[in-house]
Amino acid sequence: MKVHNFNAGPSVLPNEVLYKASKALIDFEGSGMSILEIGHRTEPFIAVMDEARNLVRELMQLDDDFEVLFLHGGATTQFMQVPMNLLESSETAAYVDTGVWSNKAIKEAKVFGYVDVVASSKESNYNHIPKQFTIPPQASYLHITTNNTIYGSQWHLTPVTDVPLVADMSSDIMSRSMDFNKYSLIYAGVQKNMGAAGATMVAVRKSILGKVNSRKIPGIMDYRNHIENGSMLNTPPVFAVYISMLTLRWLKEQGGIPAIEKVNDKKAALLYDEIDHNPLFRGTVAKEDRSKMNACFIMDKPEMEEEFLKFCKKEDIVGIKGHRLSGGFRVSMYNALPYESVEVMVEAMKYFSLKKA
Ligand code: PMP
Repeated sequence: MKVHNFNAGPSVLPNEVLYKASKALIDFEGSGMSILEIGHRTEPFIAVMDEARNLVRELMQLDDDFEVLFLHGGATTQFMQVPMNLLESSETAAYVDTGVWSNKAIKEAKVFGYVDVVASSKESNYNHIPKQFTIPPQASYLHITTNNTIYGSQWHLTPVTDVPLVADMSSDIMSRSMDFNKYSLIYAGVQKNMGAAGATMVAVRKSILGKVNSRKIPGIMDYRNHIENGSMLNTPPVFAVYISMLTLRWLKEQGGIPAIEKVNDKKAALLYDEIDHNPLFRGTVAKEDRSKMNACFIMDKPEMEEEFLKFCKKEDIVGIKGHRLSGGFRVSMYNALPYESVEVMVEAMKYFSLKKA
């Protein structure tokens, strides 16, 4: 291991993925060419794209109505592409505001139609997931952000609704078992749990498309065109898709989502237990809504934070400084982060606390 990498994204990748990708960068499967030098419409690359799409379908156990796409533009492009494809300009979409990323999604949806923010935890600096809210039955869809990367909160229950459910799963995709078939559209930038920056995974139900008549959708923005073209409407982000495919293969080898979920649960339990028992640290999110991917916490004596960061750096612990909006610390524990890294983090917290006692 190089360092203990708690970066929030882009973030740690499995060593074997990096090793295989580095080999493919020089010679892709004995072709005498780099993966970067082959055409995207060649058989070997089509096989990569197909395997990546099929692995998503298999690992998430998606039903046949779903199509899986690997697109450009990050999750941020989905903030616009979702309403462009699903929201009639005279109609209303329901959004739950659980932080910065939800807010950005809300802002973009307003460009295309009406938005009803049915619940928000803004008043309490996004320290919990709102529980009591009603979803208007005529809403075109309900949008949630399943894991709030910046504030460290996570939906542990899927809202029950008859309207189509849309989710930004950028920071907890593939980390835990869920009934993904309850959703109508799921999107995620792949750079946290599913690969390297450059590709966005979209799983969309065919049956919800083609219902918007009030606008023309530019070709590159229309999900139907991407589906028709096997996620190769234009040149896909080939290397990012390749790394995703390798990461998904790795996940399958680990035993898929249920197996990685067990490890993720253990990692989160170890860290939160320390946060709750160490007198120097305090969690910032309501316990029942804590994220198992991004743990956010502060020190009661903020003047010690810099010193703790320096101490951690010496221990090869990197990427734990909190986002500028929430301060303190954010320890991200994505799928590829080894359990041992969390053990090292917890040891550092214990040791620092003893030193200060
Ligand atoms: N949604 C969430 C939950 C995120 O964490 C991020 C990035 N950290 C984004 C959206 C934006 O993703 P991108 O940078 O891929 O556009």
